[in-house]
Amino acid sequence: MKVLVMNCGSSSLKYQLLDMDTESLLAKGLVERIGISGSFLTHEPSGKDKVVIETEMKNHTVAIKLVLDALVNPEHGVISNMKEIDAVGHRVVHGGETFTASAIVTEEVMQGIIDCQDLAPLHNPANIMGIEACKSLMPDVPQVAVFDTAFHQTMPEASYIYGLPYEYYEKYKIRRYGFHGTSHKYVSQRAAAMLGKQPSEVKIITCHLGNGASIAAVNGGQVVDTSMGFTPLEGLVMGTRCGLIDPAIMPFIMEKEGLSAKEMDTLMNKKSGVLGISGISSDMRDIENGIKEGNNRAKIAIDVYAHYVRKFIGAYAAVMNGVDAIVFTAGIGENSISLRAKICDGLQFLGIELDEEKNNVRGKEVNLSKDGSKVAILLIPTNEELVIARDTKELCSNK
Ligand code: ADP
Repeated sequence: MKVLVMNCGSSSLKYQLLDMDTESLLAKGLVERIGISGSFLTHEPSGKDKVVIETEMKNHTVAIKLVLDALVNPEHGVISNMKEIDAVGHRVVHGGETFTASAIVTEEVMQGIIDCQDLAPLHNPANIMGIEACKSLMPDVPQVAVFDTAFHQTMPEASYIYGLPYEYYEKYKIRRYGFHGTSHKYVSQRAAAMLGKQPSEVKIITCHLGNGASIAAVNGGQVVDTSMGFTPLEGLVMGTRCGLIDPAIMPFIMEKEGLSAKEMDTLMNKKSGVLGISGISSDMRDIENGIKEGNNRAKIAIDVYAHYVRKFIGAYAAVMNGVDAIVFTAGIGENSISLRAKICDGLQFLGIELDEEKNNVRGKEVNLSKDGSKVAILLIPTNEELVIARDTKELCSNK
């Protein structure tokens, strides 16, 4: 069975075509600048050379048509006919309280995703455009929606209710949802397998540290708390997002700087975090180089970043009354040796003991803890596309 995985943003889309009989990647790619002049497709067929196709793409339908053409192209294609695509799995950012698992897209499911638009005005409309475009280009192929929020829907009220008047939860559904659910699900399940246990038997803290970053406490295979909230802004200090701050700072800055609510929102989402503190970059590699060059604000940025992660690990060990494994994943978690070391330093009291030599590794599935460490420290490269494809296969096979 071949599954096409789609991750649509407002002006870009990422795709992967997977052969799910062997779980192998046939091709992947990225379309950028959809609806903006200078749009192009970068297509990477497995075992063949990468191609870049530059052509105007005025909307997602035109872009996806180009992707399908690339997949069947006699030179750089990987299938001979579009009919070989058995199903399409879409990443959908927000499923609200409606979706606790992935779902085959029906009219009712589509309406459910539309109803969640209010909660993710920047993301869900693009996901909807992607689903609509695939439906129009492949009307007979089943489409599946896989939600970033779904894995976190097991959180208890104590974790998801904010200390605000309860009527705002009832009226506007203001509560904590959490994001990166597909990644937390994948790495927590891999972690259990690496420990030789069932997910139901273990307490795991998963640290997804990419441009966006979040942590989840996964107890017995179920999320009991996670650091992102109503939006992906809450929690850790990220590349450009501020994470947890005193909410009273917002009206204070708005008044001092004469900012509108929208401008304040942009400041917290795009100009804060590692970028805002360092004044250099949101990219952790630039920050690590900045430190080598003696830049003090780069040092502050990395210290703050690590402090937040360490603090959440401590909190989640308390939330679960223990922890068996800490998982590092995503761009920074998989690659930053120094940051992993910095985060773990000071957590020895919990039985978290990093082996410095084993930690000298990037992007591989490996146990980094000292022999005899009470808590395992696992590096697990995430694979959100594979989870989307697996869910899609499962739902479509049972149809
Ligand atoms: P997203 O998917 O959220 O855009 P990624 O998971 O790709 O983000 O992570 C991007 C982050 O990973 C960037 O901050 C980048 O600096 C960091 N990163 C990638 N490679 C390295 C590396 N070798 N060392 C340190 N950080 C790295």
